Amino acid sequence: MKINQHYKTLETSYLFSQIRARREAYEAAHPCQKVLSLGIGDVTLPLAAPVAEAFAKAAAEMGQASSFRGYGPEQGYGFLQEKIQGYYKSLDVELPLEAIFVSDGAKSDLGNLLDLFDSDNTVLIPDPVYPVYRDTNQMAGRRILYAAATPENGFLPLPDPRQKADILYLCSPNNPTGAVYRREQLQQWVDYARAQGAVILFDAAYEAFIQDPALPHSIYQIPGARECAIEVCSLSKTAGFTGVRCGYTVVPSELIRDGLSLQAMWLRRQSTKFNGVSYPVQRAAEAVFTPEGMAACRQAVRQYQANALRMHQVLESLDIWHTGGINSPYLWMRCPGGQSSWEFFQFLLERAQVVGTPGSGFGQNGEGFFRLTAFGSPEDTAEAMERIRQALA
Ligand code: PLP
Repeated sequence: MKINQHYKTLETSYLFSQIRARREAYEAAHPCQKVLSLGIGDVTLPLAAPVAEAFAKAAAEMGQASSFRGYGPEQGYGFLQEKIQGYYKSLDVELPLEAIFVSDGAKSDLGNLLDLFDSDNTVLIPDPVYPVYRDTNQMAGRRILYAAATPENGFLPLPDPRQKADILYLCSPNNPTGAVYRREQLQQWVDYARAQGAVILFDAAYEAFIQDPALPHSIYQIPGARECAIEVCSLSKTAGFTGVRCGYTVVPSELIRDGLSLQAMWLRRQSTKFNGVSYPVQRAAEAVFTPEGMAACRQAVRQYQANALRMHQVLESLDIWHTGGINSPYLWMRCPGGQSSWEFFQFLLERAQVVGTPGSGFGQNGEGFFRLTAFGSPEDTAEAMERIRQALA
């Protein structure tokens, strides 16, 4: 038998396993020192009270014959689709329910959506970026082109008409750089995609962190996007669902390629390979979109934003070039003294007992940069930044 040979092209060790290994080695050698993490992008605050209550209530319903539910609708329960539809309406985006697919999170959909496209297609991926875009395409053997994100373009590459691609990935607010596209920049990508007949996979996992009212939260706020874009969204960072697992993907009916509706294809794919998100999780997700749920989730986001502001102030005081952190939970800094990303990782670990994420793990343009995340507690974040300040002063 023949296995998928493309797996041989993947890097064996995932970025975060390497980080964990170095951290564990350091901790084993220095058991008395407390290492603080500004590294992995996981949330630390618990679910908001209205969300946890809805989750528990729905779990209890499943234990009663009168309210037990088995398989749910393939695209998600109407009660949640309607709430998501209402959220888009608040962004001035009108979506029919058929376009909204409830998912178990953005990561799985980002990979699964590739079922809709031939492996012969060319993919355009920003560099640096969330490694899942690259790895999922590498697994299918697709040709990958990169759009260079650099300090010169504010880590927001714009389309180059000489690059011909079929599938484009955009992530805004960006992981790892924290950079956010403005409307006119996204319009350029939409125009480029339509001119090429390409499809944009727009990852809006961090849209809840946008504070500037002028910045777009959804690609569908851009004219023409419905004809060329699929949007993938997640409650992981919006509402602390990293362990609960729920998100949503929008596939508009206007998206037709090769004479086929991508919405109809995605429904066909999901009803064949996916049996939906559990009922209690969807009830918890519904509670996120109630006025009380939204207020409580925004409160948590504000706590992370306050951490990001503190981090920004320390880097500013040290005169270290950085971006992100205002409309994003990520800060992207240049490694001081011309250090490589891994050199700076080791320096911070040994001199400040702080763990961050080497920028080179997100692509070759990430070399010489470093990602810090604002998802820690205010106390740990303040202490970690004070240690960084002392180590670099
Ligand atoms: N997209 C980006 C850009 C991310 O950084 C992450 C998680 O870190 C995800 C998607 C995954 O989100 P989810 O937890 O919904 O799978």
